[in-house]
Amino acid sequence: MTDTASSTAISESVQEFAARARTWLAENMPRIDPDKPPFSVRAEAVSWERAKELQRRLYAGGFTGICFPREYGGLGLDHAYQRAFDAESRYYEMPLILNTPTLTICAATILDMGSDDQKRDRISAVLRGDEILVQLLSEPSGGSDLAGVITRADRRGDRWIINGAKTWSTSAFAGDYGLMLARTDWTVPKHEGLTMFLVPLKSPGITMRRIKEANGSEEFCEEFFDGLELGDDAVVGEVNNGWEVASRQLFHERRAVGGGSEFASGSGAENMQELPTDYVALAESTGQGDDPRVQELAGQALVRRIVKDQLIPHISRAVATGALPPTGGTLIRLFHADQTEFEVDTTLAIAGTAGVVDSGDGLMDIGVRYLSRQTASLGGGSSEMARNVIGERILGFPREMAADRGVPFNQVKRGKT
Ligand SMILES: Cc1cc2nc3c(=O)[nH]c(=O)nc-3n(C[C@H](O)[C@H](O)[C@H](O)COP(=O)(O)OP(=O)(O)OC[C@H]3O[C@@H](n4cnc5c(N)ncnc54)[C@H](O)[C@@H]3O)c2cc1C
Repeated sequence: MTDTASSTAISESVQEFAARARTWLAENMPRIDPDKPPFSVRAEAVSWERAKELQRRLYAGGFTGICFPREYGGLGLDHAYQRAFDAESRYYEMPLILNTPTLTICAATILDMGSDDQKRDRISAVLRGDEILVQLLSEPSGGSDLAGVITRADRRGDRWIINGAKTWSTSAFAGDYGLMLARTDWTVPKHEGLTMFLVPLKSPGITMRRIKEANGSEEFCEEFFDGLELGDDAVVGEVNNGWEVASRQLFHERRAVGGGSEFASGSGAENMQELPTDYVALAESTGQGDDPRVQELAGQALVRRIVKDQLIPHISRAVATGALPPTGGTLIRLFHADQTEFEVDTTLAIAGTAGVVDSGDGLMDIGVRYLSRQTASLGGGSSEMARNVIGERILGFPREMAADRGVPFNQVKRGKT
């Protein structure tokens, strides 16, 4: 099945591949109106079951993991094939919620840094539609200072014993494995004593709770580790070299958030919040179609939308050719966050009171959307941190002062100590 499809695919041109995908999609996947797609609510388990079912269909047809190597269940093709498939699949229901973080961040990081077993077992399980992967990085004490994590992994015999807590884990309730950063050596500076683990989320020793957000969603989770036991096979990369793995993970996250990952499959809006505002329809439905102020507001947002669309391939090319360092993806990530807030603000400004008073016309969704306007400037690291990266790593400005630089972590002052 996939083998045949894979071996066929490898000798195909992009156009032939796209034509074969077109035929297969028409026969095997549910057709949708791309302007009114069936959204999946990430906080609901049923959405994940549906996504897995769709992924299994795609796998059976030989259209998953287009850019993942063949030995791990992918097709081993380049991004042009994935883009061609995305264009064809726009008219079909796709398992879009499997893209981030499962495919674009976690599987991509395992591919770069994992052991042969981890790559073979986890990536192929994800591509088959059997598993979901999540990220366990942020902690209650703060997410920006990722290298300052205090979840600990202590060696006991041939086992690792994990104690601590993680938070803001997107979709972790639906996950099977999580990439979890923990401290394994407290006697060295903070970046040097970290190890990344691949944690089976249903293990004893993990208590997971949902977090309720201001907009009512309960997609985020927090996890508490009380004596969770892991073997050496759970270590991703090398012990005490977890910062390298985390850096790779952040690299993939920046590309994923900005829409530049070759490991994403399907290109439609994942949820209603991602659907771009139709400013003309909004202006007309609120009786402001001829208002020059509203036209100007909408024009500004639309111009920036075009800039964003052009920025993504521009930066991706610059990173690929080495004209920009790998951290260049941060430019896309920052513009994406700013643009998201600009559009949310513009939409509410045009909707006015209709966006906050429920008149049964659906416009109050705009107000509810406003409650989570900052997510794009926090998820995947905050916009302030993105500006730091751009300043220090791209523009070459001096690094900001850090009182803990070079200091053994157990001597760093924290909290009230
Ligand atoms: C949509 C979304 C999805 C997420 N998914 C996940 C996930 O799956 N897994 C996970 O582990 N985490 C996840 N997070 C958490 C996210 O990574 C953190 O929110 C983020 O790293 C910021 O950490 P914090 O919220 O603890 O804020 P803090 O680190 O406490 O920062 C508070 C404020 O201080 C600013 N700040 C901190 N340090 C500096 C500095 N050096 N210079 C300038 N400003 C600074 C920050 O920018 C921020 O405004 C997600 C968050 C969101 C919004």
